[in-house]
Amino acid sequence: MQEFVNDIDKNYRLDDYRIKEQMVILKISSICKELQCPYCNAISKRVHSIYEREIQDLPMQNKKVILLVKTRKMFCDNSHCQKKTFSERHVFVGAKGKKTVRLEKRIISEAIQLSSINTSNILKSENIDVCKSSVCALLKKNAVHCG
Ligand SMILES: [Zn+2]
Repeated sequence: MQEFVNDIDKNYRLDDYRIKEQMVILKISSICKELQCPYCNAISKRVHSIYEREIQDLPMQNKKVILLVKTRKMFCDNSHCQKKTFSERHVFVGAKGKKTVRLEKRIISEAIQLSSINTSNILKSENIDVCKSSVCALLKKNAVHCG
């Protein structure tokens, strides 16, 4: 399991996991103690609060994979910064994303060849949950015509 996490990003460690009939749930967190404020680039070690993001990843052994990613809200102590706090960014997912970048790539490569409704159905058979409209949204984001 840790190997799967290393594939996502080598700076993350596996904290816990659960294997269900249809689903694998991996709890992961970054090993980096210091985080950089995305607004002013100052380094912060001061944690404001912690929450969890739920992010879908590529299936593992035909099971849907859900990452529960520990995410820190940090104080920015730079008095010149416009923000007082910022949220930890994870390189493998967009700032507000619900799917990993590699899963999105997988969906796009499928959708380029098929209609979005067929893409959604085929991916469902592989335990990737994505509705027709999110296939379209992904294609638009990547400037591919949606059919
Ligand atoms: Zn800042």
